Amino acid sequence: MTTALTNLLDMDPAQLVAYCGELGEKPFRAKQLQRWIHQFGVSDFDQMTDLAKSLRDKLKTRAEVRAPAIISDHTSTDGTRKWLVDVGQGNAVETVFIPEENRGTLCVSTQAGCAVNCRFCSTGKQGFNRNLTVAEIIGQLWMAEFELRKTKGIEGGPKGERQITNVVMMGMGEPLYNFDHVKTAMLIASDGDGLSLSKRRITLSTSGVVPEIVRIGEETGVMLAISLHAVRDDLRDLLVPINKKYPLKELIAACKAYPGLSNARRITFEYVMLKGVNDSLEDARDLVKLLKGIPAKINLIPFNPWPGSKYECSDWETIEKFADFINDAGYASPIRTPRGRDILAACGQLKSESERMKKTDRLAFEAMMIANHGEE
Ligand code: SAH
Ligand code: SF4
Repeated sequence: MTTALTNLLDMDPAQLVAYCGELGEKPFRAKQLQRWIHQFGVSDFDQMTDLAKSLRDKLKTRAEVRAPAIISDHTSTDGTRKWLVDVGQGNAVETVFIPEENRGTLCVSTQAGCAVNCRFCSTGKQGFNRNLTVAEIIGQLWMAEFELRKTKGIEGGPKGERQITNVVMMGMGEPLYNFDHVKTAMLIASDGDGLSLSKRRITLSTSGVVPEIVRIGEETGVMLAISLHAVRDDLRDLLVPINKKYPLKELIAACKAYPGLSNARRITFEYVMLKGVNDSLEDARDLVKLLKGIPAKINLIPFNPWPGSKYECSDWETIEKFADFINDAGYASPIRTPRGRDILAACGQLKSESERMKKTDRLAFEAMMIANHGEE
């Protein structure tokens, strides 16, 4: 009979200490192990040379370091790299890396599919399959970081060689419906003996799971993004159906109560531009009114169509007018120059591509939008 190996990627630092304790090892062994795994990307216990041979032998028979397997790996001309990874039972999720001059942002998925079923979202259309495990979430980061280093020829480098500087939970799924796993994954990513990412450089995007919003802030200290998309309950009920359960009033109250909120730590409000649906100047005015008193950034996202989607992307002129209005109201514009070309390209180019590319490009685009306006 074979016993399943314990995947060490599933463990946060405290769990790793407890696990080492079970093996009769001192807590500092857990730190060594954690550094080998998360700072050096080593999964072969034999390469962990400062661990006693007896411990390495124990680990080899009981444990493993296993990220989801890569199904495909594409780099586009602008340097954006997309991986499709296998999360079992015929499920696959995407992870997207967006390199920029001073940062590298990884967009990770938290669920296979999504139950929220936003009208304009292709993931929502697919329905919900299951929550990703901690190892599958942190494994996307782990895999991406060390694949990127490998490409650069700096395999095994210390954390000073880190390629990923920012993480956005903006891939597939509603992160707050997978609270515990997402929380643990974020704590692993920000731990000083791991990749040591600043909490200010980790952004969680939610459709508005109100009871978990303040809690995730308290328990992790990461940055928050809200998929707002509408400023009236009747419209938001339709576009983001979770609004029926947690209407705008409750959502806004939760945002105002978000821990650590300040001008230096603003909430990002995502707002998809849907032609003739939510893109009028009246909407812009109500948006500004709704967010009054909240340190906020507004990300206008041109809608990316997908086969069967019932919406169209707002005209560029409309997006600009909308952006100008919220700019004038004092919000840093998320699509300032050279916004035009880039965004129109992203929005228009999708029409001619395959469905899969559309989805990946949407993710890349979303992550890019946030990366551009995330914290330093
Ligand atoms: N599920 C989470 C995070 C992932 S989606 C959430 O909804 O917040 C990241 C952003 O892309 C969300 O604001 C989402 O509403 C938006 N989005 C989804 N489908 C889109 C599309 N077809 N075009 C533009 N933005 C889209
Ligand atoms: Fe789920 Fe986010 Fe898509 Fe809504 S927009 S269906 S919450 S992935």
